[in-house]
Amino acid sequence: MSTSLPGLPSRVEVYEVGPRDGLQNESTVVPVEVKAEFVRRLLGAGLTTVELTSFVPARWVPQLADAEELLRRLGELPGRHPVLVPTDRGLDRALACGVREVAVFASATETFAQRNLNRSVAASLDMFAPVVARARREGLAVRGYVSMCFGDPWEGAVPLDQVADVAVRMHEMGCTEVSLGDTIGVGTPGQVRALVDQLTARGLPVDDLAVHFHDTYGQALANTLVALQCGVTTVDASAGGLGGCPYAGSATGNLATEDLVWQLHGLGIDTGIDLAALVRTSAWMAGQLGRPSASRTVLALLEEQ
Ligand code: MG
Repeated sequence: MSTSLPGLPSRVEVYEVGPRDGLQNESTVVPVEVKAEFVRRLLGAGLTTVELTSFVPARWVPQLADAEELLRRLGELPGRHPVLVPTDRGLDRALACGVREVAVFASATETFAQRNLNRSVAASLDMFAPVVARARREGLAVRGYVSMCFGDPWEGAVPLDQVADVAVRMHEMGCTEVSLGDTIGVGTPGQVRALVDQLTARGLPVDDLAVHFHDTYGQALANTLVALQCGVTTVDASAGGLGGCPYAGSATGNLATEDLVWQLHGLGIDTGIDLAALVRTSAWMAGQLGRPSASRTVLALLEEQ
């Protein structure tokens, strides 16, 4: 039985990142047919937004080298199904596949921008601006990720203004949604409220924000609840908790979609997701990867059966 809390939305859009963010950060390379089956099962479980893959050079991310083949096998899909495109060349490839939504991945910190994109924060935003502008001219929706919003493994705490500057710039360059990422999972609820408040005060509509929490320090669901209380209604999560963070050292990475859905449904918030079907999907995927799911909810519900 669900019990509501005041000040929460009646519906939340769960933005599933497992096939891209999850599998990109798994050491096992999953065959393309298994990826296609994973996506079909996620859609079958009621997920409406699934980030499919990344159009990056194969030498950068060998786990996602089959992007074109995956999209070809999937064909027309219902709902939102964005792909990551770091460059103009990536956008070319995505457009050739008929993609309708893309995402770019920026950093709030200089060290991560250098390590991940081999350029400064300012230079990386200058690189993304024409990609975003062209995608918008082509009629695509564009998600802008801001990573390292609450902490950086090399720089420590990240000043709020520095994060807000990057998020606002991405929105101004044409991103239709900005996802605030706690890439190493160190953030706590007060920081979440402070960041969302600053962004809305600077004119970034809360409807254009999403949150992307990692559970490294067990804070992901507490942070999510505060984001919802601030008016955010799009929450990123990864089925079965797929994908650690290679920079965080520990095994726990993305917030598990099942753990998120357990909380949302418990609060009486509609997601359209069939939790039992999602748990079966993640249990099946864990079998493909040869290890147990990282989701507490998956483990608990499997135990009950
Ligand atoms: Mg992530």
